[in-house]
Amino acid sequence: MRFVSTLSPEKPVSFTEAILTGLAPDGALYYPEYMPNLSDFFWNLPGEIPFNELASNFTSALLSPEIDPVIAGKIVQDAFNFRPVLKKLSDDISILELFHGPSLAFKDFGASFLASAMNLLLGKQERRAIILTATSGDTGGAVAHAFHKKANIDVVILYPSGRISPFQEKQLTTTGGNVFALEVRGEFDDCQRLAKAAFNNPKLKKLPLTSANSINIGRLFPQSFYYIWAWIQMRDKGDPTFVVPSGNFGNLTAGLYAEAWGLPTGGFVAATNANDVVPEFLLTGKYRPKPSVPTYSNAMDVGSPSNYERLEKLFSGNIDIFRQHIKAWSIDDETVLKTISKVYQNHGYLCCPHTAVGWKAAELFKEQYPNSQVLVLSTAHPAKFLDTVKRATGIVPNLPKSSADIMQRKKIAHCINACDEDLAEWLIQNFN
Ligand SMILES: *Cc1c(COP(=O)(O)O)cnc(C)c1O
Repeated sequence: MRFVSTLSPEKPVSFTEAILTGLAPDGALYYPEYMPNLSDFFWNLPGEIPFNELASNFTSALLSPEIDPVIAGKIVQDAFNFRPVLKKLSDDISILELFHGPSLAFKDFGASFLASAMNLLLGKQERRAIILTATSGDTGGAVAHAFHKKANIDVVILYPSGRISPFQEKQLTTTGGNVFALEVRGEFDDCQRLAKAAFNNPKLKKLPLTSANSINIGRLFPQSFYYIWAWIQMRDKGDPTFVVPSGNFGNLTAGLYAEAWGLPTGGFVAATNANDVVPEFLLTGKYRPKPSVPTYSNAMDVGSPSNYERLEKLFSGNIDIFRQHIKAWSIDDETVLKTISKVYQNHGYLCCPHTAVGWKAAELFKEQYPNSQVLVLSTAHPAKFLDTVKRATGIVPNLPKSSADIMQRKKIAHCINACDEDLAEWLIQNFN
């Protein structure tokens, strides 16, 4: 399979090229050149197949001969020492926990696969890369852990000083080694501007700068693995409807790709917080991006979802096809608190505010489609959003053992001003 720009489909590139460059030369996102039908592959998967075996078989089924079974196996083995976990909380609503990776959020699946794939493919070509990325908080931790100790790659993370949570700051400043944290005296927008300017700075042209942001197809593609894995666990009782807490709509796009490649599903529910461009679009037929508003589920505070471009392409911009594949609800903060509390009272289960947005949307979906089997994707560990969970339930969720000592680890970060020259100078000093 090759990949084309959503804007100019005439120049397909390999998977390697697409993940090493991130964006197409015309600035648009990469998109599969065609959608193969792998439905026989899906039905022939054994019920007990381990997650990594599924991930590696599927990768080579889709990307061979470029990524053959041996390379696929190596990438997957290196990427995933964590798994999705399926929990049946009631007769007809289940939860798919995607937060058992190092940063305790589902982004670990995409970031880890991209890091392993980039590292291996760079090594084959005897090339190196420097990942330069700006974070508003959550992505930084996933990227730091995913790329830590990758031999062919260095990572530079720009984050806004004092604007991310202490836990998030520890996640991205304590790995050390090939991961460098730059604390920027400014806001997230400054960090993004600095990164952009560095990519365009002629003085830095000799550095192998690249990005690992969420629109990279190498982060999106591996997110299809857990939809397939969950379907295998549930297929005997009917195809599940996937409820996806959404912000930039990367996670949902990955599920829709799996469906386009032949995975049977009961459809998708896009669950958003007050940032409701997509639910509003499905209701009115008008797509109107707007500035984001802050909510408890802050990893979904997105007013202009970057993957909309891919959805539009997938559904040929046809609102009726959109509506056939996706139902959508927007859930407000008040309801999120009530939902966290209710899920805890009824099921003894603590969920993060993003997952609660999904749970409530699942309930609303069930009111209209009572016979469906619903699976809510749980995107973050509740302990990452301790204040909100405590406020809703009075209970302080425990961090898993792997992160329990994180607040005691030593922060290593270099402070810079929000100025292009400061960043350029730092990069030249450290990587020349
Ligand atoms: C990033 C994120 C989301 C939103 O995922 P998208 O792919 O951007 O739609 C939801 N929940 C959590 C915890 C996240 O970190």
